[in-house]
Amino acid sequence: MIVRNLKSVRDRIATACLAAGREPSSVQLLAVSKTFDSDAIRDAMSDGQRCFGENYIAEGVEKIMTLKAHTELQWHCIGPVQSNKTRLVAEHFDWIQSVDRLKIAQRLSEQRPAHLPPLQMCIQVNMDGGANKSGVAPDALMALIKDVAQLPRLKLRGLMTIPEPAIDFEAACAQHRRARALFDQINNANTLLQPMDTLSMGMTADLEAAIASGSTMVRVGSAIFGQR
Ligand SMILES: *Cc1c(COP(=O)(O)O)cnc(C)c1O
Repeated sequence: MIVRNLKSVRDRIATACLAAGREPSSVQLLAVSKTFDSDAIRDAMSDGQRCFGENYIAEGVEKIMTLKAHTELQWHCIGPVQSNKTRLVAEHFDWIQSVDRLKIAQRLSEQRPAHLPPLQMCIQVNMDGGANKSGVAPDALMALIKDVAQLPRLKLRGLMTIPEPAIDFEAACAQHRRARALFDQINNANTLLQPMDTLSMGMTADLEAAIASGSTMVRVGSAIFGQR
């Protein structure tokens, strides 16, 4: 079932890329395995999936430990991180996509073990101002980027967004286009040593709209693993 689902998600991605005149290889698929066990992850691995996203840190670390012989896997933390969980993230994950304040970034940099490469990072942006949502406000983003750029054990790769559910395709595209515009604006401002290469947006419900609007990574859970 998971293998069949994975194929159909890859088809959706390829079709969306074709419609947008983009190379299918320009969009990475992150399989969001939260709440599913390591056997489900093994199923996806059997069909070549390598990148997995986890929301809950203790649960994610458990699976990372179970599968640690598979060094080809890449683990992304995509959920909110409290201060008392930064060490687990720094020691076990390859990426963190949900940084939205300096204090968390500083702790992650300090706690990243010396034998591991820098922790790859996206900053989560709250594009629509949802009051109880995570993410930095767009007008505070540049300041946060300048600060995190100083942290030696983190590598800024891009931005991550979770927009509010949209009423239709056009509305979803409009949301994603605003995130893409912000991403381009920061890269064009040319204050970064290296431009960001990752715009993580689009999930099961809106991956086509995200790809049409310039996403480079879609995070798909239920279309691959089933309803949670
Ligand atoms: C759960 C989750 C996803 C995947 O959502 P689906 O709708 O199941 O594809 C993607 N991103 C984040 C941040 C999530 O929490």
